[in-house]
Amino acid sequence: MPGDFAATLARSTTDPSTKDQVDVLDLQHTWHPFTQMQEYASLPRVHIERGEGCWLIDTEGKRYLDANASVWTNVHGHHNADLDAVLKAQLDKIAHATYLGLGHEPGAQLATKLSKLSGLDRVFYSDNGSNAVEIALKLSFQYFQLTGQSRRRRVIGLSDAYHGDTFGTMAVGDCGIFHERFASWCFETERIPAPTCDELGGEVFDSSMKASLDALDAHFDKFGDEVASVIVEPWIQGAAGMKLQPRGFLREVESRCRQYGAHLILDEVFVGFGRCGPMLVGREEGVRPDFICLAKGLTAGYMPLAATVTTEEIYQAFLGDFGEYKAFFHGHTFTGNPLGCAVALKSIELLEALKQSGQLDLTIKAFEDFFRSLREMLPETFGLSQRGLAGALDLPPGDPDERRGLHLCIALRERGILLRALGDGLLIVPPLVISPSEIEFLKEGLIQTLQDKAFIQ
Ligand SMILES: *Cc1c(COP(=O)(O)O)cnc(C)c1O
Repeated sequence: MPGDFAATLARSTTDPSTKDQVDVLDLQHTWHPFTQMQEYASLPRVHIERGEGCWLIDTEGKRYLDANASVWTNVHGHHNADLDAVLKAQLDKIAHATYLGLGHEPGAQLATKLSKLSGLDRVFYSDNGSNAVEIALKLSFQYFQLTGQSRRRRVIGLSDAYHGDTFGTMAVGDCGIFHERFASWCFETERIPAPTCDELGGEVFDSSMKASLDALDAHFDKFGDEVASVIVEPWIQGAAGMKLQPRGFLREVESRCRQYGAHLILDEVFVGFGRCGPMLVGREEGVRPDFICLAKGLTAGYMPLAATVTTEEIYQAFLGDFGEYKAFFHGHTFTGNPLGCAVALKSIELLEALKQSGQLDLTIKAFEDFFRSLREMLPETFGLSQRGLAGALDLPPGDPDERRGLHLCIALRERGILLRALGDGLLIVPPLVISPSEIEFLKEGLIQTLQDKAFIQ
């Protein structure tokens, strides 16, 4: 057992007064995602007990602004009265019944709502973003087999893409150290360079997508009738550190997919449900993809629910007598969980009101002003990018092994702010209902912590 971990554990178990019971159990028996546990055990730990609006409250009663919206999921704040009420009402009926061959009202209602929002027709539920993508990939693959085009098996993805951590999604992603260890187990994917642009405070500075589209054209020229799908995170590659995509790119990709008969898969797991303003980004751009993958904000960050939305044409190809074995043999035990569907429906209703009232636009404007003022206050060596309520602050170039981002986040906790770093970048993604005074609190805390840590004067 690594030294730090053993020492911390020994200290915690022999002297429970210094660490509460949760911490002891946590250190003894849990294994956290995307976490070097030796490092985790050696640093101060926070255990969340409650939530209130944009705030999280730990087991010692300390309050923190949830500045990454509990990993990009939270929409209307925690412990939202309307969402809680809907969940409790659903709980009074039933918590879960299988969706394998049985239906329920929240599932039917939500599918109808998602079809209206997307302009597509059919909803296949699952329980996380990776699965939503995995399902789109498998549906696309099987569709071409069922329609006499079994040569179509290739998938084209973007550089720096992130679509999840299951094998299919690792294969189509391009996440360096996250996934390269498993590369030999992954199917081959064609990759084109992701187009980028700079955007700050609502202004777009530079945008180029020619190289990206040229590469796409080259792949289509070479493999035209072998391409099953092109998969894109529209507008923002979140896990790449908030890499922004020029507007108009999706339309160009869509027209090539149509020309060559390939599917377009939009992974809106991060950008969907108001994160950038629009309910759905592809729709905003006038693009009609063959698949849309939804998760994170779908249930306002309340429940693990995901959806893959597709067209009637694709659905029809899977119909036939049972013995033709055209059915899609894929499903998860908790697919279409009624609690998740009920809370998602309510969240979408609240989100529509938030947009219609103009409040979401005002919040985005305040967030843009926040980033614009960071640009004025911070030296040029800091990288900044922002679109909608998604932003990144990159520290000046340095040694990644120093873990500067992580230590900055630990220091931010002292000032009542919870963030998670990605390497030397801080990804700032608040709940959609963050208030101007909370944005101000975030700004002050960030600037003061950068001063405390001697990143700025
Ligand atoms: C988070 C994310 C996923 C994976 O979702 P999980 O629910 O974590 O499996 C997929 N694609 C994008 C764009 C994401 O941001």
